[in-house]
Amino acid sequence: MLKRSRGIIIAIDGPAGVGKSTVGRMVAAKLNYSFISTGKMYRALAWKALAAGANLEDESGLMRMALAARWELKPSDTPEPQLCVDGVPLDREITDETVAKASSFVSKFAGVRKFMRDMQRGIGAEGGVVMEGRDIGTNVFPDAEVKIYLDASPEARALRRVGQLRGQGLEADYAEILDFIIKRDDQDSRRKNNPLKQAEGGHYMDSTSLDRDQVVVEILRLCAQAMA
Ligand code: C5P
Repeated sequence: MLKRSRGIIIAIDGPAGVGKSTVGRMVAAKLNYSFISTGKMYRALAWKALAAGANLEDESGLMRMALAARWELKPSDTPEPQLCVDGVPLDREITDETVAKASSFVSKFAGVRKFMRDMQRGIGAEGGVVMEGRDIGTNVFPDAEVKIYLDASPEARALRRVGQLRGQGLEADYAEILDFIIKRDDQDSRRKNNPLKQAEGGHYMDSTSLDRDQVVVEILRLCAQAMA
């Protein structure tokens, strides 16, 4: 018998720019599940802190900010509900590199991580969800039915990012992006609290030479196995 009322939990972890959101959304759409990008929550806190000119080293100040904010996920017409903080829908404002860098910074604090973990558990506990981040299979839902560690070489990830940005008509410098990716991965993997790593009992997938459809097919196969 299914142990969660809405379906299974699919946890996707992995380094920056590996395509967790892209494939996660596709898997969620196929299964009629919801999709949650937990990085957006760390980015939202970093964005608030930057906007307030707060000290990013002050954990208790960051915690006060997280606790005082109104966090909402509003239904949307896609599998991904809209993240709103204090009534403000957050999308473009949290995608830039300054916010990404700051999010990796604020995410190292144990208190911040516990706050986010509790919120994420509240969102996904009933299942029927694809949740992606850095610690979903290791910390948020270690009992998820499907745990994937999606990987790709830093060079392949930087190339994909360059393609994405140029596709949007934006400038992109490969060497700068590669350097940025390597530094963020390093910070996320070396931190003391819930570092990025493969979950026990999880599946490792190297997508360096796979396209997103191949990754999605493989994840759906693992999901079908878990549901059988
Ligand atoms: O995935 P995304 O690039 O949006 O994540 C932004 C940052 O948030 C990551 O670099 C990482 O430091 C942090 N994060 C985390 N744990 C998660 C999701 C994101 O520490 N589950």
